[in-house]
Amino acid sequence: MQVINGKEVAASVLTKVQQDIEALKQAGVVPGLAVVLVGEDPASKVYVGSKVRKCAELGMNSRKIALPTETTQQELLKVVAELNADSSIHGILVQSPPPPHIDEAAIVRAIDPRKDVDGFHPENVAKLVLEDPSGFVPCTPLGCMQLIKSAGVETQGAHAVVIGRSMIVGKPMASLLMAKGADATVTVAHSRTRDLAQLCRTADIIVAAVGRPEMVTADFVKDGAVVIDVGINRVEDASREKGYRIVGDVKYSEVVQKCRAITPVPGGVGPMTIAMLMANTVKACRQQALL
Ligand code: NAD
Repeated sequence: MQVINGKEVAASVLTKVQQDIEALKQAGVVPGLAVVLVGEDPASKVYVGSKVRKCAELGMNSRKIALPTETTQQELLKVVAELNADSSIHGILVQSPPPPHIDEAAIVRAIDPRKDVDGFHPENVAKLVLEDPSGFVPCTPLGCMQLIKSAGVETQGAHAVVIGRSMIVGKPMASLLMAKGADATVTVAHSRTRDLAQLCRTADIIVAAVGRPEMVTADFVKDGAVVIDVGINRVEDASREKGYRIVGDVKYSEVVQKCRAITPVPGGVGPMTIAMLMANTVKACRQQALL
């Protein structure tokens, strides 16, 4: 049994990213990422802070634009337009979720697809499905693929069950697994799927992206399966200083007994998401600088 160490795999991705940044600097360009945060969501603030810190660690430029909750759609669109026109900014992301009065889909569409390092713009969604490598793939599923590869898992002809059909994780994950080269046979399960445990027992690879703490129990997993746990869920825990702990969508203590490889939470998929964001920003910079 192998515990897939996301921190280690992320570190090796970031070593390569750092080398690429150095090469770009030698060629006279410093990659720049703009992160736009609207409102006061505490989790979003933490995510934005860690993205900006990671840019600094790697010697990349970053710009954090924190806007008040009452920012209007028009004001936010203006900020995006300015960033689109700014040649020192190669990647733009608007931290999700924005306040409810903001039409998130319209904001995503307003981002220049060449700067859409989250990979949420319809043009990049299309490129993923078309298997056009010039597009940007959402960071979390891209990171999951790297973890699967790093563990030496054979995906060709394997049955992969992706639990969750979100645009951020489930759908792009399914596209990546079924793409040429990965060649898995993919089933996407969701909240209306019948007999989920039975379905999952037919899987060689399970990717859980649901947002329900420890839902995937041992009876979902056949012996020797590979389990990638995307979930990040807070559960109350009085024994912890903060009063809670973070668990995945997989009941780790049970599933670890049956599987061939598994990602822990924390320390699995989480560190990969930010590493792939950095990699996407470097890719955007290279494309825009025509290097
Ligand atoms: P989402 O809420 O957009 O989607 C959840 C999906 O799960 C939906 O498609 C829904 O149909 C499905 N679902 C809900 N209940 C189900 C059930 N009982 N059985 C089967 N399917 C069910 O969530 P998301 O944005 O895709 O995120 C999923 C989880 O991954 C969350 O815990 C989130 O915090 C986490 N996440 C982690 C990272 C990371 O960097 N590690 C990044 C993004 C999301």
